[in-house]
Amino acid sequence: MTTNDFSSARHTPHPDLESSPAATVSAGPGPGPSPADLLRRLRARGAGDPVTHVERVPARAGVPAPWPSWAPVELRAAFARRGAVAPWQHQAEAANLAYEGEHVVVATGTASGKSLAYQLPALATLLADPRATVLYLAPTKALAADQLRAVAALELEGVRPACYDGDTPRAEREWIRRHSRFVLTNPDMLHHGILPGHAQWSGFLRRLAYVVIDECHTYRGVFGSHVAHVLRRLRRQCARFGATPVFVLASATSGDPATAAGRLTGLPVTAVTEDASPRGGVTFALWEPPLLPPDSGSPTPVPPQATGDHDDLHQVRRSALRETADLLADTVAEGVRTLAFVRSRKGAEVVAANARRSLDDAVPGLGDRVAAYRGGYLREERRELERALLHGDLLGLASTNALELGVDLVGLDAVLICGYPGTRASLWQQAGRAGRSGQEALAVLVARDDPLDTYLVHHPEAIFGAPVEATVLDPANPYVLAPQLACAAVEAPLTPADLALFGDGAKEAIDELVAAGALRQRPTGWYWRHRERPEVDLRGEGGAPVAVVESATGRLLGTVDGGSSHFLLHPGAVYLHQGVSYVVDDLDLADGCALVHTEEPDWSTHARDVTDLSVVSVRSYVDAGPVGMFLGEVDVTSQVVSYQRRRIATGEVIDTRPLDLPTRELRTVAVWFTLSPQSLAAAGVQAADVPGALHAAEHAAIGLLPLMATCDRWDIGGLSTAVHQDTEAPTVFVYDGHPGGAGFAERAYGTASAWLRATRDAIAECGCETGCPSCVQSPKCGNGNNPLSKPDAIRVLDVVLANLPE
Ligand SMILES: [Zn+2]
Ligand SMILES: [Zn+2]
Repeated sequence: MTTNDFSSARHTPHPDLESSPAATVSAGPGPGPSPADLLRRLRARGAGDPVTHVERVPARAGVPAPWPSWAPVELRAAFARRGAVAPWQHQAEAANLAYEGEHVVVATGTASGKSLAYQLPALATLLADPRATVLYLAPTKALAADQLRAVAALELEGVRPACYDGDTPRAEREWIRRHSRFVLTNPDMLHHGILPGHAQWSGFLRRLAYVVIDECHTYRGVFGSHVAHVLRRLRRQCARFGATPVFVLASATSGDPATAAGRLTGLPVTAVTEDASPRGGVTFALWEPPLLPPDSGSPTPVPPQATGDHDDLHQVRRSALRETADLLADTVAEGVRTLAFVRSRKGAEVVAANARRSLDDAVPGLGDRVAAYRGGYLREERRELERALLHGDLLGLASTNALELGVDLVGLDAVLICGYPGTRASLWQQAGRAGRSGQEALAVLVARDDPLDTYLVHHPEAIFGAPVEATVLDPANPYVLAPQLACAAVEAPLTPADLALFGDGAKEAIDELVAAGALRQRPTGWYWRHRERPEVDLRGEGGAPVAVVESATGRLLGTVDGGSSHFLLHPGAVYLHQGVSYVVDDLDLADGCALVHTEEPDWSTHARDVTDLSVVSVRSYVDAGPVGMFLGEVDVTSQVVSYQRRRIATGEVIDTRPLDLPTRELRTVAVWFTLSPQSLAAAGVQAADVPGALHAAEHAAIGLLPLMATCDRWDIGGLSTAVHQDTEAPTVFVYDGHPGGAGFAERAYGTASAWLRATRDAIAECGCETGCPSCVQSPKCGNGNNPLSKPDAIRVLDVVLANLPE
């Protein structure tokens, strides 16, 4: 947990850990083997060495700093009672900057004590000025509640911290508005509650000294772009009341946190990134499951959507799930308390079941020491599992990232991470579960069949070096800007002075709102014309979500966002929900609902679509001789036209069935590159192989983009063609899958050579012969991964990289 982490990271180990010495692990003879010994035994197990890299992350002694002279004695004493006798260097540096009035983002590791960095200046100010107030924003209610406990425990006179969110009883709300000086909330409440009710909050906002934005790296993509404007609306209301609060942000480590924080707040922000907190040593191994013998092609034992494994693709590597299960069994057999992180719930169950089976084969009964952990457990059940693991009754636990969200389990001897969890922040959060005070621990990242995982296990510098992955957002997205300006206009008429605050595109968006009859222009500004407020969802997606309803019972199983509904919920689709299989009877697009029944067929379904793309405008481009690199607006038209049914056990295609679904349009932002046919021919790409070469390069490029920007490959689409009508050349497009763009294509354009270099290396370094899911195959290909040419994709990217300036 990141909150109040200064105290536990600083001087007091987790209380449970002190009471659970290694000797209580009764399966092994006393304390387990050292991480180095354990790793040696694990890698000696099979033929060939699956370990591509071992990083010794050394233990680090903290660098303490003196309390700032402005920190009142009372506050220092309160922190000391909580275990922090002095701040770490980075905490003091960030606190000093903030106290001097600079906007600051502290971007350091998990449990490095980011809370103290903002609590110190904020609380010192509240103590010095009995009228000042602080607003704290967290992405989740749980985090805000956690932080409230930490601030309340300091027992400072007159601060009266309080959470203000959807759960706050009406009766308490007025008291909080009037009396609390440290209000903890979330962006949704700020957007839906506080800003529309600014008149009632005027006393609080008028005296606002600090705005704290915790876990600010979670505000990315479309959601982040919305939050950026909610913060501009907050700054606008504060300015109306004469306040100019200082923004203090806390972020996970990422590439260029100052720029991301600047985009989020619209203010110049200074970054503090040097982590001076102490940490335990970890031996971190990168593990690539071996290639299978050519003809063994073993099918994945579980359905694809449930596990994230791709059963439809020809599997050439041993699956990460199997490999993780074996590793878990081996560490448990050594008496080592191990936590395995698996991306899906079903996957966690498969890992635990396989590990239990192998252990029982070796020593009957030993399998009982392994369990699966999934979300949805009652609090008592969770506590019981935690207790069992900490005391060694349980030695192995396979879990989804449910543990990341509020379960207090640290101090394990080994952590296995089955598949890169998507961001370095999550990776370190998971690895951070290993290691007890003064004791070394082992962490293993097991690569999945995926271009990004493959790249990472062969490029340890991308994990252990300076981060390049940045949090991106695009406040200029017109699909975000217009509704946010409408909200702002309701709060107070917009004036020309507001244009600079809301940034690029604000004037155009206002003109469109006027043309649409939503705003009226008067001499004093632009006024909202309607009685009711605009309904704006901060997580707004393309199209309303589709409800998934079980016909027999009328039970709502869940929702699927509009953008994916045609793919996942077409009639006949096999839909997996929490490990249970359903078949779709009907997709009613008018009502936004899909009717399903439970059925466990032995096939999976795979939708095919046809996509067309036209260039609307070019924002920016690089002319690099035979190669062109572009950023601009595009219109994407797509239609899901058919689906295949394939046997789960063998991947064999049973049949292809047509679908009758409407086309959908998406205006978004894309990055694309073109190559001259001559340059391709000169590089040895035959004309007939150009489509397969571009297609393969496109898949891998999409797979590697999460290295540069925190996004999911499902946030992004692509299209490649040997001749495009708008570019008149062989072209690869990669576009944001959200209306108006979310910043991903823009980041790809800005880091094009690094991005495509990583893509090229990922393909070239994959040991397969003709292409596999680890390099050029994609689980979401609308063309069934056909055509693809792995060697020619490398030639294409070599031509691009040879010409593109760094
Ligand atoms: Zn491959
Ligand atoms: Zn494809």
